[in-house]
Amino acid sequence: MIRKQKAFMSHRDLGRLPAPGTTSGRALATCWLLIPVVLFGMSSAAIRVFGAQASPRIPLSAVKNREPLQPGAFNPLPLTSIKPTGWLRRQLQIQADGLTGHLDEFWPDVGANSGWLGGTGENWERGPYYMDGLVPLAYLLDDPRLIAKANKWIEWTLTHPSPDGSIGPANNQDWWPKMVMLKALTQYQEVTGDPRVIPLMEKYFHYQAAHLGEQPLRDWGKFRWADEVVSVIWLYNRTGDESLLDLARALRRQGHDWRAEFADFPFKAKTSKAQLMAEPGEGLADLALSAHGVNNAMALKTSAVWSLVSGDASDRTAAAEQLYTLDEYHLLPNGMFSCDEHLAGEDPSQGSELCSVVETQFSLEEMIGILGTPELGDRLERIAYNALPATFTNDMWAHQYDQQPNQVECSLYQRDWATNGRESNVFGLEPNFDCCTANLHQGWPKFAASLWMATPDDGLAAVAYGPSVMETVLKGVPVQVDESAEYPFREEIRLTINPAQPAAFPLELRIPGWAQQASVTVNSKNVEGVRPSAFYRIERQWTKGDQVVLRFPMPVWTSRWYHNSVVVERGPLVFALRIGAKWTKLTQGMNKPAPVPAADWEVEPTTPWNYGLILPGGGLPSSLKVIEKPIGDFPFSADGAPVEIMTEGRRLPDWKLVDGSAGPMPVSPVSSQEPVETLTLIPYGSAKLRITAFPALDN
Ligand SMILES: [Zn+2]
Repeated sequence: MIRKQKAFMSHRDLGRLPAPGTTSGRALATCWLLIPVVLFGMSSAAIRVFGAQASPRIPLSAVKNREPLQPGAFNPLPLTSIKPTGWLRRQLQIQADGLTGHLDEFWPDVGANSGWLGGTGENWERGPYYMDGLVPLAYLLDDPRLIAKANKWIEWTLTHPSPDGSIGPANNQDWWPKMVMLKALTQYQEVTGDPRVIPLMEKYFHYQAAHLGEQPLRDWGKFRWADEVVSVIWLYNRTGDESLLDLARALRRQGHDWRAEFADFPFKAKTSKAQLMAEPGEGLADLALSAHGVNNAMALKTSAVWSLVSGDASDRTAAAEQLYTLDEYHLLPNGMFSCDEHLAGEDPSQGSELCSVVETQFSLEEMIGILGTPELGDRLERIAYNALPATFTNDMWAHQYDQQPNQVECSLYQRDWATNGRESNVFGLEPNFDCCTANLHQGWPKFAASLWMATPDDGLAAVAYGPSVMETVLKGVPVQVDESAEYPFREEIRLTINPAQPAAFPLELRIPGWAQQASVTVNSKNVEGVRPSAFYRIERQWTKGDQVVLRFPMPVWTSRWYHNSVVVERGPLVFALRIGAKWTKLTQGMNKPAPVPAADWEVEPTTPWNYGLILPGGGLPSSLKVIEKPIGDFPFSADGAPVEIMTEGRRLPDWKLVDGSAGPMPVSPVSSQEPVETLTLIPYGSAKLRITAFPALDN
C-alpha cells in the first residue's frame, strides 16, 4: 500500500470548517462561577504555601471565550486537569531529571543572577522561556523541588512590577520577552489561582496600550504578536475588560501581516544567507524574520487566534492555507517544516531547529482548540512523538539545534544549512545558539496538558492520545477519565469514565487519518459510524466505571517524499534505520564547552547507512516483520525502542557522505547489485542516527 501522505491536512477539508459563530456563543458565566472562590480569597502567603506544595487540586472547568469573541471549537482545560501516567509520566520525569530540572544550577543565563530574578545578568528571553516550560512540568509532576524553583521566578515578577505597570527587568523594555513571561504567568495562575496574577496582567496591558504608540513592536515581538494575543484573550475571558480587545487590535496593526505574506508566499525553495542578508538589518530585517523558522512556527496560530477577535471566516481558512503552504514547499517526514534556521526546502538532509519543534506544537495545540480540525491532532502527534524526542539524548541532558530526517553523523562540519553554523546538529548544552537551551522545556509538558479539551456543550474531546488521567467539572459534576494506553506504540486505548454521579455529556474522540480500520466499543459493545479524520461523538449518560475502548489498527505503510523516496510508517510513528552509534564527548571545538554536569557530544556511525529499500511491486517493504517490545525506562532510545520493524534492503555504494550529511538523495527508483541485507527500523524518535527517507529499489 502506498499513499501520498505528504499533505497531512487537506486545505479543501479545512476550507469546509464551520463558519465562526455557527456554534453556540454561550457565555462563559457557567464556568467562571465554577472556579473555586476559595482560591481567589486566599492571602498571598497562603498562596505561596499552596503553590509550593504538591497538593491535591480541586478540578476546574474549562473557561470559554467571552462575547464578542468567537467561541472556540474546543476549550482548553486548566493546567494540571490532565496528569500524565505510564510511559508519558516517565518521559516527563526524564526531563525533570535532565536539563530542565537542573539548568538553573549551572547555566548562567537562567542562574541566580538573571535579570528576571533582580540580578544584573541576562535580562531578555531566557528566563521567561525557561518558565514557559518549567512551570507546567513542575506542576504536572507535582514535584515540590521544581515547583519551588519555578515559583522563585514567578514570585519575583509578581512582586517587582514597575510603578507604571511594566513587568520584568527595568533595564530591558523590549516587549518580546514579556510576551513569553505572560504565557508562564497564565499557566501558573490556572494551577494556583494566585490572586495577584490577574491584577498584574491588567495593569501591564494598560501600560502597554498606553506606550505602544511611542514604542511600537519591533523585530521578534512584531513577528510573534499572536502569542501575546493568546494571553490578552486569556485575561479578557476572565475580566471582560473590553479595552483588552483594543489592545489586541493594536498588536495586530503593529504586527507582521502573516496572512498577507502567505497569500503571496515568497519562500518556495531553500533560502540562502545571501538572499536574507540582502536587506540591511543583520538578520532582523523583515525579509529574514519572515523566513525565520521559529517565527513561522509561532505564526502558524496567528490567523486562527485572530479569527476569534475578527469573527472573519476567511481568517480560519487562512490558518489552514498557511500550514498547507509550508507543507507544500518545506515539509519533512518528521511532521516539521525545514528551518536551519530559515526555511530550507524538502531535502531530508536539511534540519529543523528545536525551538521550531516546540513552538509548532504549541501553535497546533492552540489551533485545535480554535478550529477543532482532527488533522491538526494527527500533526501534533506526528511532531510530539517523532521530531520532539529525536532531538534529545535519551536522558534529555543534551539537545541539538537542528535535527535531520536523514542524520547519519552529528559532528562539527559546516553542513549545507540555509544559515546555521557548524555546531548545529551535535548534541549539547547550547549548540549553535542558546535559544533552544532556554525554550526546549515547553514541548512535553504542554503536549501532555493538551490531550483533552472541553467541548462547547460541556463535554470532552480527546484531541491527542497518551496515557493520562483527566479531571474536570462538566455541568457541575466532577468527572475523571483514566486513559490507559501504551499509545503511540500500541493499538489499544482504554478510557474509564468516572463521573462523581451519573451524568450525561458528549465524548468526542479523534479518529486519526491513518486509522482506516478504527473501532470503538462502549462497555464492550461496538459502535457504528467510526471513520478516520473525524471526531466520533458519543452522547449518553455516563456512570462510574464505564469503559470506552478505541482500537486503532497500525498496519505498516509507506509514504513518498523528496525525490520519490520512501518513508515507513506505523500509526503515528515514523520509522528510521537503526544505525550503530559511537558517542564522543567534545572537550574542545565548540564556542563554549558545556559546563559540568552538561556535556557536548559528537555521534559517528559504526554501521552502514546508505541503503535502498526493497519494495516488491512498489508496495510494502519486503519480508516485513513487526516486533513489539516492552516500553522501557527510556522509550525513545535506540536500545529501548518499543517497536522494531524488520525489512530488507541493499546498499547503494554511490550514495555517500558529503560534509557530514547523507549526500544528494538519488531519485527513486534506483538499482543496486549489492547483496540483500536485513534492516532494523525503529521509531524516528529513538534513532539518534538514522535514515528516514530511503531510496526505493527497483530490484
Ligand atoms: Zn532555538
